[in-house]
Amino acid sequence: MSKTFCEICNEIVEYKIKKRIREEMINNKIVSFNELYAICKKCNNEVYVEKLYDQNMLEYSEKVKEINGIITIKEIEEILNKYAIGKKPLSLVLGWGEVTIIRYLEGSTPEKAYSDILKKVLEDPNTLYEYLEKNKDLITKVAYKKTLGKIMELKLTEDQSKIYLISKHIIAKMEDITPLALQKILYYIQGFSTYFFDKPIFNDNAEAWVHGPVYREIYDRFSYYRYNPISKNEFESYNEIDSLNEKELKLIDSVINNFGVYSGKTLEKMTHTTIPWEAGRKELSEEEYSSNIIDTETMKDYFTNIGKKYKMKDVSDISKYASSIFKEIMDGDNK
Ligand SMILES: [Zn+2]
Repeated sequence: MSKTFCEICNEIVEYKIKKRIREEMINNKIVSFNELYAICKKCNNEVYVEKLYDQNMLEYSEKVKEINGIITIKEIEEILNKYAIGKKPLSLVLGWGEVTIIRYLEGSTPEKAYSDILKKVLEDPNTLYEYLEKNKDLITKVAYKKTLGKIMELKLTEDQSKIYLISKHIIAKMEDITPLALQKILYYIQGFSTYFFDKPIFNDNAEAWVHGPVYREIYDRFSYYRYNPISKNEFESYNEIDSLNEKELKLIDSVINNFGVYSGKTLEKMTHTTIPWEAGRKELSEEEYSSNIIDTETMKDYFTNIGKKYKMKDVSDISKYASSIFKEIMDGDNK
């Protein structure tokens, strides 16, 4: 039970906390806010309690900030949550002293210029993205990737990106899918969609990386998982089912069923046998970095040929190709 000194009773007493509305003039405006106060349980007179006083001061200064258009503590906390970033990393990424955000959270009022930056960051993921790319060397790699992932998610959701919807569906359906495997599954979905639907299912182009084709934004979204499976808890719901039609879902599920059984490494080897990835690598040596785009036409030509070669009539026929490629790379390994 909390106690304080009562001047009337002249002793330490128990108290109870009550709430009342207080009005103050701030910038010629009458502003009302909740004020907490304490009552002596013995004599019912008001008593002073320091922690309530501090709380009221905080509430008051939040109101003053609101009226003056300065970012509030609540809003700064929103930024930290929204981008999964810590107080120190946020300060550093914005190019400020390490403890700047901590001081704001403890109640000191940001200068207008600093406040404006924070407000922009809260509103627009692209603003933080620019700072993050500029100052990523000032924070740990893990912190960088985690925040980058959150920014990507916000951007992808905002764009109602189809490749992201499909990725969510794949992650929901598959057990233990790593970022590497996800990329390869997406590649085959895209490839076979050009054969079965005569046009790509999503608009993104893969890049020809050393470890196979990679869709950059999806990579950035999940890369902090590194070689670990992506958690299904990443998403609150899977309503993407509503956004993909039955035909699309059938194709996606067939690729999942026929390729999802292989490890990320095996899938990587499988994609290395495909012409679009090879063409994207151009004259590069095996370990050479590249972000060359794998273009849609090359995808379409290749997968149309595969579709014809394996006499695919239905998406379930993808199994013929998958098992034949698997056998091919196994034979290759045993040579
Ligand atoms: Zn009293």
